[in-house]
Amino acid sequence: MRIYQTPAFVEQLWQKYLWKVCTEEHQKSLFLTFDDGPIPVLTEYVLDTLQEFEAKATFFCVGDNVRKHPEIFQRISSEGHQTGNHTYHHLNSYNTKTADYLKDIQECEKVLAQNHLTLPQKSPTLPLFRPPYGRLRQRAANILHSQYQIVMWSVLTYDFDQNLRPEVCYQKAKAATQDGAIIVFHDNWKAERNLRYTLPRYLAHFAQKGYKFKTL
Ligand SMILES: [Zn+2]
Repeated sequence: MRIYQTPAFVEQLWQKYLWKVCTEEHQKSLFLTFDDGPIPVLTEYVLDTLQEFEAKATFFCVGDNVRKHPEIFQRISSEGHQTGNHTYHHLNSYNTKTADYLKDIQECEKVLAQNHLTLPQKSPTLPLFRPPYGRLRQRAANILHSQYQIVMWSVLTYDFDQNLRPEVCYQKAKAATQDGAIIVFHDNWKAERNLRYTLPRYLAHFAQKGYKFKTL
């Protein structure tokens, strides 16, 4: 079963994670996030599309991809988007020793810092981290809480699911979106077909309704 909208009880169980943004000061705002890049072509497609709608977003980058494609990472940050840490090797916390997992995050943080041409966008006091697969062992979480704002999501598009039809991906993502939502897309090849279909339509739909797309 695909759960597009994060249930309230999940958010309540893990209140220290960021699931959505309080809309009192951010009315009609949406917070798009892109995981797993930066990669050539597809991340550049995302940046071009965001530019068309004057949209800002947050990119959770894999350190090894930043190392391979620093110029694309630099384009992300120089165009006013936010960046966050998504580990160096896209590790699954459940299959990784906590010490190794934390080291991998540090390695990613290092390559992000080395490649920021400008200062990172203003962030909520702490740098941002999103655990790959949304999985984070409690032991790792306890340590990371003081160092990072851990960001989850309220809307998962399932763009990476190659059995999901693009039309369905778009309709479900649209229907699950509420004011202040944090939405997950992926700039990875598995997601390409759904991303290219959904992203421009999603942006057009909510821009037309008066929404702004902001960084976290
Ligand atoms: Zn990921």
